[in-house]
Amino acid sequence: MFSCQSKAKVASEVRCTFSADSAYSYIAQQLAFGARVPGTLAHQQCGDWLVGQLARYGAQVSNQYGTMINYAGRQQPLRNIAAYFQGSTAKAILLCAHWDCRPWTDEEPIYEDRFYPVPGANDAASGVGVILEILRQVNLLKQQGQFVPSLQIVFFDCEDMGTPSHFNGKEREHTWCLGSQFWAKEYKEAIVSGKLSNCQCQYGILLDMVGDPSATFPREYISSTYAANYLEQLWRTASNLGYGRYFIQQQAYPITDDHYYVNTLAGIPCVDIIDYKPNTQTGFAHWWHTRGDDIQNINKQTLQAVGETVLTTICSK
Ligand SMILES: [Zn+2]
Repeated sequence: MFSCQSKAKVASEVRCTFSADSAYSYIAQQLAFGARVPGTLAHQQCGDWLVGQLARYGAQVSNQYGTMINYAGRQQPLRNIAAYFQGSTAKAILLCAHWDCRPWTDEEPIYEDRFYPVPGANDAASGVGVILEILRQVNLLKQQGQFVPSLQIVFFDCEDMGTPSHFNGKEREHTWCLGSQFWAKEYKEAIVSGKLSNCQCQYGILLDMVGDPSATFPREYISSTYAANYLEQLWRTASNLGYGRYFIQQQAYPITDDHYYVNTLAGIPCVDIIDYKPNTQTGFAHWWHTRGDDIQNINKQTLQAVGETVLTTICSK
């Protein structure tokens, strides 16, 4: 019956129930649509499914449609999916992940293999799956009359549309993270114009590639620069819960990801929990931006570590 139990070792924190099985099934369900490449039927259908899931767990959902200039200088349509969950706090905690798949497997070693869409199990159905399960748990806690924070969930589109390795045109800047750039600008404008009254964000947590069996999450530079306190809180919670082997103390160089724009354009301190592997050539796992980014590389223990750490952190007063 009880979703949260006091745990003596963790001072003011409560150890929250998080079901890795459930998060895993949300990942599998996204993959079942096919690669969620913007402009495809799989993308549209998965987007509609995500809207349904968020609404089912008590959030007010809205689609944010827009366009941004892409790597080739063309207009790129995008669809961010935002959901507000009313908890006990005036300000919300932003939980975000990207939900699109990269159209090109351009990290495949053989050139001919670089034109498939990335299946996107870790990158980033994993982050979306963990957030859906967190929302489900928070909604259960709210129904039991327990303290829960208000949540602003955003699934960003077009994160992975950055210039492909086979492009020979002129390099442009800011070709990654198109959806978060769009969302962050709109958020900032709403704050400035006073339109955003009930869903201002206190801080944010971005989840990207959070399901690999040997995932390690370093203290990434942009996160440490803009959101040091929140990073400390998350890493401390992870350590208290026994997940220090995932949430490592090592620093990492700045990683281009949605949190950069959430920090710099929206002005919300945001921590990136991202699997970074310093000993590889790319800095990421062997499956990164290849056809190997499939369900085989999703591990329930890793999902549990991430989900429980985030849920425990956000539910601590
Ligand atoms: Zn990616």
